Amino acid sequence: MCNGKAVYYQRHSNRHLCKKHFLKDFYRRVKYAVKKYSMIEKNDKIAIAMSGGKDSIVLAHVLKHLYGKRRDIEFFAITVDEGIEDYRDDTIKIAKKVCKELEIQHVIVNFKDEIGLTLDEMIKRGNRNACTYCGVFRKYLLNKTARKLGATKLATGHNLDDETQTILLNFLHSDIERLARLIPQRKQNNLILRIKPLREIYEREVVTYAILNDLPLSLDECPYSSFPVRSMVRDFLYEFENKYPGRKFSIMRSFEQLMPCLKNIYPQIELKRCSICGEPTARDICQPCNLKRELFSS
Ligand code: SF4
Ligand SMILES: [Zn+2]
Ligand SMILES: [Zn+2]
Repeated sequence: MCNGKAVYYQRHSNRHLCKKHFLKDFYRRVKYAVKKYSMIEKNDKIAIAMSGGKDSIVLAHVLKHLYGKRRDIEFFAITVDEGIEDYRDDTIKIAKKVCKELEIQHVIVNFKDEIGLTLDEMIKRGNRNACTYCGVFRKYLLNKTARKLGATKLATGHNLDDETQTILLNFLHSDIERLARLIPQRKQNNLILRIKPLREIYEREVVTYAILNDLPLSLDECPYSSFPVRSMVRDFLYEFENKYPGRKFSIMRSFEQLMPCLKNIYPQIELKRCSICGEPTARDICQPCNLKRELFSS
């Protein structure tokens, strides 16, 4: 693009990019995704789900860079501390540091106070795997906290690699209903709309962005992390993408073409309120309340 020194080889476009042109392309693609799905609109108050991992740190940085000067848009970050010994403290420190530097209000909620047990304690008590408790209660707390603080949207750091892995996994598990849930949803009472501004950005690009902007990167992995099938799909996609660059975009575009059919087969259902806690749910009792009952009756 210019005579500057290249810092990144962008396989899918077969271009070597200098820092300036890498960032320009990165911002253009985030803005494209945001516009395409109307992720950010006038007067939005956006809660950023901030785990302290690379995706959420980059997400906060990019959003602040692109929309931070807009007076009609507000940002704040929510970190959920699940209570995982020897792992969470570092990422929380990073989240705090980044929010301070970006001048974003930072709210931390934790499992122990809100649910009554840390994740470590849940695993000792219950018989489900860590990621089930973690995923269900994290989603619940993010939504509840974002709503309490007046958020209109909840932004998560899912990137192109995450999204394409999930799309393929749902095909492999023949779980088309779950696939349909990946479609950007319409507003529902009490459920804060989720947005994924990095959905068009490769994971390698997220890491490169973090390095170019001197953002802190945590390389620690959660001790409970074990996703054998997802890991296989991830490795397959890496290999496939290396050989045939741009195929992750093809998967995303195929999914987008299927969206109207999926919406027809699985229209978004009207959510009720949980009869125990009042949070939005498709059933009478929400999943977090069911898990809590299991944990506290054992
Ligand atoms: S890998 Fe760790 S942080 Fe991720 S969902 Fe599982 S328990 Fe939670
Ligand atoms: Zn250049
Ligand atoms: Zn409930």
